[in-house]
Amino acid sequence: MKRAVSRACVRILLTYLLAMCCSFASGGDRWVVQAQRGSLLLYAEFDPDTERIWAELAEVDAELLEATGIEGTSGRVEIVLFSTRQSYLQYLSGRVPQASARRAIFLKNGEISQVYAYNSRSLAVDLRHEMTHVRVHQHMPYAPLWLDEGLAEYFEEEEAARPRSSRREAVRWKARVGFSPTLPALEKITAAEAMGADEYRNSWAWICFLINDSADSRQLLRSYVRQIHRGEAPGRFSEYAATENSGLLSRANSYFRKMTFPLTFASSGE
Ligand SMILES: [Zn+2]
Repeated sequence: MKRAVSRACVRILLTYLLAMCCSFASGGDRWVVQAQRGSLLLYAEFDPDTERIWAELAEVDAELLEATGIEGTSGRVEIVLFSTRQSYLQYLSGRVPQASARRAIFLKNGEISQVYAYNSRSLAVDLRHEMTHVRVHQHMPYAPLWLDEGLAEYFEEEEAARPRSSRREAVRWKARVGFSPTLPALEKITAAEAMGADEYRNSWAWICFLINDSADSRQLLRSYVRQIHRGEAPGRFSEYAATENSGLLSRANSYFRKMTFPLTFASSGE
């Protein structure tokens, strides 16, 4: 996937947010559209296809829950859409310098989550990506970076688009010549700024494997997420997986050579 502007999203959980939520909510005429669906509030400088946005985000919620057990809370999610990249940058650059390198950004402070993005052909993908981060961080007190970004990259695409993903061929080709993504290398990365295109793609590939290889792999992902959700500390996933299901990770290389996407998720029976 083209990444001219990185979407390395962020755990910017800072004072910026407090400063921002007051200023944007009182934006007066700035917002052409203000809409609400449950705990989601949308503010836009232009007239977006609001029904499509709600449908895309509901799809992410449903798939995330089914595949991983990740479930959003009722905490407020404010989605702020700018009409142009310039407008997005003007609004955010002084407050969140990291936004300038990204097409969209996710911020969280306590129970309030915010997503900032701008109108473009990839808006739906960007919103699906950022909403995945919102749900991950609502559900889990912390999330390993590879897991957080891997899930966001995975769910940013609609189910039907995943087998056609440009990343799929890259992973398959590399795996067939002996360069499969290695999880311990990804687990060592702790700063989003250290994630480049390869690291995003490799994180995505690992999530593809865990969700799609087998009921066992999916179950392992779900149980790891559940432990963190409960406040436990399962450690690095590679070590957790070796303890819980010692043969599982050895299947990853053969998955990466195929990169298949079953059409439906099997029920985990949980
Ligand atoms: Zn992200």
